[in-house]
Amino acid sequence: MPAEKASLMSDALMIWLALSTFLVLLMQAGFACYEAGMVRRKNSVNVAIKNVADLGTSIFLYLLIGYSVMFGPSWNGVLGMGASPMLTDDPPVILTALFQAMFCGTAITIVSGAVSERTSFGGYLLLAVAMTLLVYPFTGHWVWAEGGWLAKMGFFDFAGSTVVHAVGGAIALAAVILIGPRLGRFETKAGDGDSDSDGDIKGGRIDNDNLAVSALGAFLLMFGWFGFNSGGATDFENQVPLILVNTAVGGAVGIVVILLLGWVMRKKAGAVDILTGMLGGLVGITAGCEVLPPLGAAALGAMGGLVAVGGTHLLARLRLDDPVGAIPVHLFAGIVGTALLPLFAYEHKIPPQVDGRLDWLWVQALGTVTVSVFAFCVAWVVIRVTDPIVGFRVSPEDERIGLNVAEHGAGTAMLDLLNQLAAQGVKGDFSNPVTVERETEAGYIAAFYNQVRERFVSEAERSNTLLEEAAFLANHDPLTGLKNRRAFVTAANTDISDLNRYGGDDCLIMIDLDHFKAINDCHGHDVGDEVLVELAQRLRRVARETDVIARLGGEEFGIIVGRATQDQGMISARRFLSAINSEPFALSVGPLAVTASLGVASLAQHTTFDAALKAADKALYAAKRGGRNRVCAAPAAEGRLSAEAAEAD
Ligand code: GH3
Ligand code: MG
Ligand code: MG
Repeated sequence: MPAEKASLMSDALMIWLALSTFLVLLMQAGFACYEAGMVRRKNSVNVAIKNVADLGTSIFLYLLIGYSVMFGPSWNGVLGMGASPMLTDDPPVILTALFQAMFCGTAITIVSGAVSERTSFGGYLLLAVAMTLLVYPFTGHWVWAEGGWLAKMGFFDFAGSTVVHAVGGAIALAAVILIGPRLGRFETKAGDGDSDSDGDIKGGRIDNDNLAVSALGAFLLMFGWFGFNSGGATDFENQVPLILVNTAVGGAVGIVVILLLGWVMRKKAGAVDILTGMLGGLVGITAGCEVLPPLGAAALGAMGGLVAVGGTHLLARLRLDDPVGAIPVHLFAGIVGTALLPLFAYEHKIPPQVDGRLDWLWVQALGTVTVSVFAFCVAWVVIRVTDPIVGFRVSPEDERIGLNVAEHGAGTAMLDLLNQLAAQGVKGDFSNPVTVERETEAGYIAAFYNQVRERFVSEAERSNTLLEEAAFLANHDPLTGLKNRRAFVTAANTDISDLNRYGGDDCLIMIDLDHFKAINDCHGHDVGDEVLVELAQRLRRVARETDVIARLGGEEFGIIVGRATQDQGMISARRFLSAINSEPFALSVGPLAVTASLGVASLAQHTTFDAALKAADKALYAAKRGGRNRVCAAPAAEGRLSAEAAEAD
């Protein structure tokens, strides 16, 4: 509303204008909720704060400079040149300026959602300031100022489908193209390149955080829209009721048409589509809200909703990432609503400057496209020129962490948790629980993780124990706890390779209990077992630390005596025998005298362990044959050492 008209306002109209001002301000809350709910939680604070911050800059700069450029006396219909409303005390003028400042704030804040989740806070604010100074007042002047060049042609945009919405959407489009999509939005896994029915790329969908909050935002926007559309009325009685009805109808039909479309096409209506349809419907009737019959508003509301929803899917196909659908809602529905309103407007509302509806259609199309292209181009130049200085795109690291933390230091509980988890992952050490920040979302995840970790650690310990047990069983005799044949052979082979390398001799002793079968037969198998266990203990007691004792099977035992010639081995063998036969075994059935026969062979005198084993066995059976309870030595053999010695000679 031009300043000179504003000063003629009645008190009632001033009250309505003040109320409308507050309603338009409330739309900022609507945008904040709508966008915060649409983005991922790690960016919700950032997008909400952008809405607050750009309100500050746009209100102040618009009042200081923008309003006079927009509504000051026109210079050739291109820009106004007047005094700042901050220098006047004319109540209607300053109130109108404030109302218009809220409009400016709305136009600018449309951009915040479109560039959310990857744009730097500083870059965004610079863009907001540049648009407040370089775009909005100029295009606003062309359309709404008395001498604006589009106004003079009969271009009609009552409440800003073009002036506010298409301008905001066009700036957003330039920014979205230049700043690029969010990480992962359009990246597909190999072989997964086809699009789904939404036009979204599979594997690149990014979930909305809280659509319930977005729905609240949509409500707040629609509520504020009543003031947005009707605040500019100059004749309450003849304009406002129709505007209010058309506003409600536009939003309502935008919802209904998307519900129907969803049900017909997919048997369900997507939540985001319904919200988008509603806002598209509202934008669609904003230009014509004062000249449309309610049925005409219904038609434009339907078109606005359809264009907005269709546009959302089109952008996805074009790989343009607009997380909140700001471009289709505000630019596409804004252009359609502005351009097509002559089709539905009341006859008597056709502007006198145009020659019938057809001419009006042309003027409307020209105006809305020109304004949109201008806004797009200025935004494009501003971003390209200032990007090297401010950096519009945040680093991939910051984008991953989320802008709440990266730009505002908010929400550190989650970041702390992520850091702790990353540290455990890198070190591979899961022995300590992570810190739980109580009563936070991160805290719940941390507590759950700790539970899983505890379970994991105890399972790992259990399987380690099982592995150790299995390893023990693989190498030991379960009855006596001595090494088994397998481990004995391994130890013997190690010994032999040591002998090969360093020379010297080791001795092999074979032990076989005498008449063991008789013990079993007489006292039972369990008592036989007791004898085996007791025997193992006696052998252990007598053996040196370096001796290797094993149960080779049944009542047969083997011992490797390290660093011993055959003669020294005989001495050891006698010690072992005396450990067995010197005193009776204390068994459950009482004391029992047990004897054994032993055979001794030198390892060094045999080429293989097997040969040594056979020699010791032979000696053992010689002992058996000799009457048992004795030690026999294997006859000296032409073994490896003697062969080597012969070679050396
Ligand atoms: P010899 O003096 O000639 O060695 O006579 P022996 O009875 O000791 O020898 P023989 O080979 O005839 O019998 C060995 C017996 O050892 C046969 C078998 O029942 C018994 N035996 C083998 N393993 C076990 C065991 O784990 N526990 C018990 N209790 N007896 C076993
Ligand atoms: Mg035997
Ligand atoms: Mg025996």
